[in-house]
Amino acid sequence: MARSTEVAKETLSYCTSCKMDLNHIVVAMKGDRIAKVQCLTCKKEHVYRAPKGITEPPKAKKSKKKSAEGGEKTDTSIEAEWTKLMETHREAPMKSYSMKGHFTLGDKINHPNFGEGIVGKLIYPNKLEVIFKNDIKVLIHGGVQA
Ligand SMILES: [Zn+2]
Repeated sequence: MARSTEVAKETLSYCTSCKMDLNHIVVAMKGDRIAKVQCLTCKKEHVYRAPKGITEPPKAKKSKKKSAEGGEKTDTSIEAEWTKLMETHREAPMKSYSMKGHFTLGDKINHPNFGEGIVGKLIYPNKLEVIFKNDIKVLIHGGVQA
């Protein structure tokens, strides 16, 4: 069995001058390893370097898709949640939102800016997480009545 690499044989190596993987002639061996090579392209002799992989793809650009359509997916799920909640709390009376009002879980709130919403979470001591049709907002209120 002939050895695959020996002096004067061609081998692929990374050329430090050309800065790419190129065919080199083996100039010197060190045991079983290639010690020195000569670049067939620039004719320079240099220490053998393992090929870096010929197709080193340029770092994938983080393509931020600025698609306005894609951003609406979240809204859609909020809207679905909102629709479900409105349906569940159909019987609950609509309360007008006021910072001094007292609201509790499941209350329907009519907010002058955000429209109709449902209290989805109470945040101690005086905040509400309200699910509106297009957004979830944290509102301040007068606190839960004891
Ligand atoms: Zn070279």
